[in-house]
Amino acid sequence: MKLPERTVERLSAYRRTLLQCLTSGKTHIYSHELAQLHHNTAVQVRRDIMFIGYSSMQRKGYDVKELIAVIGDILDSEEGQNVAVIGIGNLGRAVTTYFMGKRSKLNIIAAFDVDPNKTDRVISGVKCYPLNRLDEIVKEQNIVIAILTVPADAANDMTEKLVVSGIKGILTLQPCH
Ligand code: NAD
Repeated sequence: MKLPERTVERLSAYRRTLLQCLTSGKTHIYSHELAQLHHNTAVQVRRDIMFIGYSSMQRKGYDVKELIAVIGDILDSEEGQNVAVIGIGNLGRAVTTYFMGKRSKLNIIAAFDVDPNKTDRVISGVKCYPLNRLDEIVKEQNIVIAILTVPADAANDMTEKLVVSGIKGILTLQPCH
């Protein structure tokens, strides 16, 4: 199904909220509650959710678990997406460990770092490569997403390298633009 970009963005944001609901024990949610949390209207929320073929809104509202699964079926590719962590320091290791356990559709399969003490080793369960192998490994292993956890002063330079390598999406945890 080809969805408009804005719809994909909203569905992805709804899913984040729904996952938080699940963590806090909330099993159902009304369209107006979702709308309020996302600064849009209940009509927009219902339209987005109907668009992906989910309409079983009961008197209690949407079933949170079911809706997460339906959004996942639409947004996530079946085989998942390959991810690389760039800069496997404190944050890089924490993020890797976190994603490994929780998001099975995001396969963290490589890390890159400039520190020779880290390269050519397995760190937090992933092989760490030197930066000069970025283009080669990205292509060879079909890596489409990078998680950027280098120091802030290296972030912009690294972003340019990632774009050149063919990476399609970057999740940055940097304090800089
Ligand atoms: P860190 O020093 O532990 O890790 C940074 C890693 O990046 C190191 O392994 C280093 O060798 C590597 N690196 C440096 N330059 C590189 C480059 N050009 N290419 C590839 N790898 C490179 O630092 P950290 O604590 O993990 O923090 C990293 C960034 O994340 C910082 O900008 C920090 O502000 C931000 N951040 C950290 C935390 C945290 O809890 N540690 C939380 C939020 C944001």
